[in-house]
Amino acid sequence: MKKFIILTLATTLAVTGCAQKKDKVEPVTNSITQSEKVEELETDVLVIGAGGAGMTAAIEAYDQGSKVIIVEKMPFSGGNSVRAKGGLNAAETSTQKEMGIDDSIEAFFNDTYKGGKELNDKEVLTYFTENSAEAVEWLKSVGMNLDDVAPGAGASNPRMHRPAGGIDVGPALVETLSKNIKDRDIETLYNAQATKLIVENDTITGVLVKDVNTGEEQKILADSVIIATGGFGANEEMYTKYRKDLKGFITTNHSGATGDGITIAEEIGAALVDMEQIQTNPTVEQGTAEVISESIRGLGAIFVNKSGVRFTNEMLTRDVLSSNILSEDGKFAYIIFDQSIRDNMKAVEGMIKKGIVTEGSSIDELANKLEIDSNTLISSLDTWNGFVKNKKDDEFQRDTGMDNTLEKAPYYAIKVGPGVHHTMGGIKINSNAEVVKMDGNIIKGLYAAGETTGGVHGANRLGGNAVADITIFGRQAGQQAGKYSLTNGSLQAKTSSKKNPSEKLSGIKEGAKAQFKDGIYEGEAKGNNGTVKAKIIVENGFIQSIEILEHSETGPIFETVENQLIPTIIYNQDLEADTITGATVSSKAVLEILNNSVEK
Ligand code: ADP
Repeated sequence: MKKFIILTLATTLAVTGCAQKKDKVEPVTNSITQSEKVEELETDVLVIGAGGAGMTAAIEAYDQGSKVIIVEKMPFSGGNSVRAKGGLNAAETSTQKEMGIDDSIEAFFNDTYKGGKELNDKEVLTYFTENSAEAVEWLKSVGMNLDDVAPGAGASNPRMHRPAGGIDVGPALVETLSKNIKDRDIETLYNAQATKLIVENDTITGVLVKDVNTGEEQKILADSVIIATGGFGANEEMYTKYRKDLKGFITTNHSGATGDGITIAEEIGAALVDMEQIQTNPTVEQGTAEVISESIRGLGAIFVNKSGVRFTNEMLTRDVLSSNILSEDGKFAYIIFDQSIRDNMKAVEGMIKKGIVTEGSSIDELANKLEIDSNTLISSLDTWNGFVKNKKDDEFQRDTGMDNTLEKAPYYAIKVGPGVHHTMGGIKINSNAEVVKMDGNIIKGLYAAGETTGGVHGANRLGGNAVADITIFGRQAGQQAGKYSLTNGSLQAKTSSKKNPSEKLSGIKEGAKAQFKDGIYEGEAKGNNGTVKAKIIVENGFIQSIEILEHSETGPIFETVENQLIPTIIYNQDLEADTITGATVSSKAVLEILNNSVEK
């Protein structure tokens, strides 16, 4: 209990932004001195970074039954993840099937491998592509809208899952994850920067964390630690150490993307991979550093140069497009689109509000505003519209994002050029999201996920693969770290005050009504991955047991159904129980079996 009070206090301090007044806070009890309090912070799983990967990992670790703390150095969550525009790549998903899109895990692997110039780590890429569909289902099960699928650059089939209505994926993702963190009461310490990983005998034991307001450092002991600190795209010194040619580039990254996780992991012997692989996004509005999502090109927008001439296949990979733009006079391009694209892409309204879009009631007016020859621009658009109608780009062989002609006035332009966008390299992990050392061994209990890691993307990340990465490996890191802390953790006995809530539920609650017909019932229903079969025993009018006879659901997800939902149903004798967050489909399958088989 003592430790729980201390954690609550620290959280409150950080969230209310008054951490600097820590020493003025009334002691919790007279017997605990301030220094003892600081040293005694401990948890099963500590997550460093409250971006997409960190929050996903925290939710999964919590759902394993672990006590979880997140430390975040900024005063808010979201990191670079909140800036993600396009979507999440996944293959063989139910949404693709519903939309008649024929895609395969193999094609997803091959596209990513080709896009990454075959530098990708095959082990992690295999895990990534094989678990993408499940990541989409999981995000949907925790409340995210991912009902649309769009084509993406470098992808042979449409597989970029995103919210319907052209809403940016990042804000939707961060909102969904934050809500899940809040619902679970997972403690997040803000303004808390991890500065050192503490390792003893090749095993992680905790992290040194600095209060960024006071500079005061404290140790948080943890059975497992997940590094989810994002990339280093806002650390010019660090990226120019690996890539001198990027000196002076603007960055699209949030200011916290300084590569801290990579630095502290390197200090304890972690291997780093592909550090020089730094992606410049070709379509950054240069005044505001706003990234213009490639989904605008997927919808049919084109590039023209300073003279109004189309100069490239706009659906090439980001590295090639960046270099093609830098080869043009002025080192910039205009993205040209029309009202039909504006109608289909909500994000355009935000760009217009920010004042980065030039509008013309005709092509002629737009050309005049851009100070380019209007006949040249008219001719570029005519030629392009002809290619779309014939489904063949004779000039640059573009073959996707060609469903709409650009013919509906008004016309629009956004001036773009490349900026530092994504750092592909980072901490080496294996497919269990374990941190791998330079000698090839792992550091027990230490995991990493998201942009802080290297390997998935190789030499170039395809649009839609960052959100996929943080979800797929965030989940994996959380599940593995949760399991590790529960099986190997020395701290768990002291800290697991939030273990499975259903542990409190044993037997049948007092006052429950005997309402079912005695008998042994069997039934089946469709779960996430196949059929779920169960046997139910009713005696004296009460459901006495629900035994799962068969299922092919994901282990950890289904465990929450077995450990939480089933005891809750028996305890309450209620077949209308709430589904378990994160295991909605599996929960529904169990409830369906009960409702269809058990007689009242
Ligand atoms: P990803 O996409 O991999 O999830 P993000 O950039 O979205 O990465 O999130 C990383 C988060 O980690 C950011 O919120 C960032 O402020 C936070 N962070 C970075 N370094 C540290 C650190 N040393 N300690 C705590 N949080 C950190």
